[in-house]
Amino acid sequence: MQSIKLVPVLPVSIDLLRSLCAPLEAEYRLPVRVDAAHAFDSECAFDVSRGQCNSSVVLAELLRLFPGHDGKLLAITSVDLFIPVLTFVFGEAQLNDLAAVASGCRLREEFYGMASDEGLFRERVLKEAVHELGHTFGLLHCRDFNCVMHSSTSVDEVDIKGAHLCAQCAAAVPGRRL
Ligand SMILES: [Zn+2]
Ligand SMILES: [Zn+2]
Repeated sequence: MQSIKLVPVLPVSIDLLRSLCAPLEAEYRLPVRVDAAHAFDSECAFDVSRGQCNSSVVLAELLRLFPGHDGKLLAITSVDLFIPVLTFVFGEAQLNDLAAVASGCRLREEFYGMASDEGLFRERVLKEAVHELGHTFGLLHCRDFNCVMHSSTSVDEVDIKGAHLCAQCAAAVPGRRL
């Protein structure tokens, strides 16, 4: 049976991952579990010259840890992620495949010199988690601003978009029952 595993990429709060389970189950109608036993350190993906972690290396490590896995794997971390052609990414996913990663680093108000807002932070992490998982289910970016699959390149764009899949994107998730 399909399922979704959330894997901590340290440093990250396990409690944050736990808080994602129920809303992700509601969105994808699949069992969602935190797999703390497979937690790994972001150090393996750290790029000294950039001071950030390479999200593609995180995905490769995730796949290495789960050979033959047939469910979805979502790594969650608090470190800043990049791909070589971009300054940063909120996350990265394999399209219509197994693995995705999302970072909370730039989703915290503190990152922008503002006062901490834990509720807003968690709302943003959930949006990015639903978004990256959407790509693993084969969803592309959506033009609907209310849809969580709308692309976001800044935190303002994360805040503007909705927290859920639009009807069209939801219908395109294989096996998702209404
Ligand atoms: Zn995307
Ligand atoms: Zn959509």
